[in-house]
Amino acid sequence: THFGYETVTESVKQERVAGVFTSVAESYDKMNDLMSLGVHRLWKDHFVSSLNPGATNPIGMPQRILDVAGGTGDIAFRMLQHAHVNNGNPNVHVTISDINPAMLAVGKQRSLSLPASHQSSLSFLEANAEVLPSSIEDNSLDLYTVSFGIRNFSNIPAALKEAHRVLKPGGVFACMEFSKVDKYPIFNAIYKQWSFSAIPLIGQLVAGDRDSYQYLVESIERFPSQDDFRDMIAEAGFAIVGKGYEDLTGGVAAIHKGIKP
Ligand code: SAM
Repeated sequence: THFGYETVTESVKQERVAGVFTSVAESYDKMNDLMSLGVHRLWKDHFVSSLNPGATNPIGMPQRILDVAGGTGDIAFRMLQHAHVNNGNPNVHVTISDINPAMLAVGKQRSLSLPASHQSSLSFLEANAEVLPSSIEDNSLDLYTVSFGIRNFSNIPAALKEAHRVLKPGGVFACMEFSKVDKYPIFNAIYKQWSFSAIPLIGQLVAGDRDSYQYLVESIERFPSQDDFRDMIAEAGFAIVGKGYEDLTGGVAAIHKGIKP
């Protein structure tokens, strides 16, 4: 049946993704710097400051955040830093969830060098974004983030529905993901050249793993355009503000946001 076919391809994709991230976990952070020439750090800083975690009204109110596909912790650590230091709000809790125990293990190890007050505001959860555990209750979160994770999901609409389920009314869904550079043909040509030639080569030389990085590049190519992804977020029941997304570096990446009505 059609349904049967979809189930098979989804589980094949999930296994493939598990293999890729188990294999890249140790080299993941170094590879991000090399592949993006360090730019991913600026995007992540911008993503987190645009969300302004810890800015509650009145100041100091509790805030619950779930960072899905949080991997080695880049977004979660920045959110805690922003909440504690920029907004003086230690009452923010961030859960890093990821389907892959190897990525979470690297995240846990890295979190040990955070200040103790940040560590106590952090927890880890092994979970598939498409079927979050019932311990994450309906209408329980203020903010749901997913950064460079969603294109790996087998069933993106299911993950968006789960995001909608767990957010409180008024809660924010925020996603940063690689996107399309179609508006700038010359830059796009250079970017494509870099993606398809340099990234698998760097993967081979630095991580000894050409195939995983080839997969990552292809998954970027297959991910929907800014407008199409915005429409999927709306389809899941989120309210969209303005055009619904912000391009980063000409659309190499984009930040999409939706609000649960
Ligand atoms: N958010 C981190 C960042 O921005 O650096 C890590 C992104 S990493 C490229 C993608 C992560 O998505 C991996 O850690 C992978 O295990 C996770 N992932 C893939 N499929 C998933 C799923 N269905 N549910 C939860 N996490 C998933």
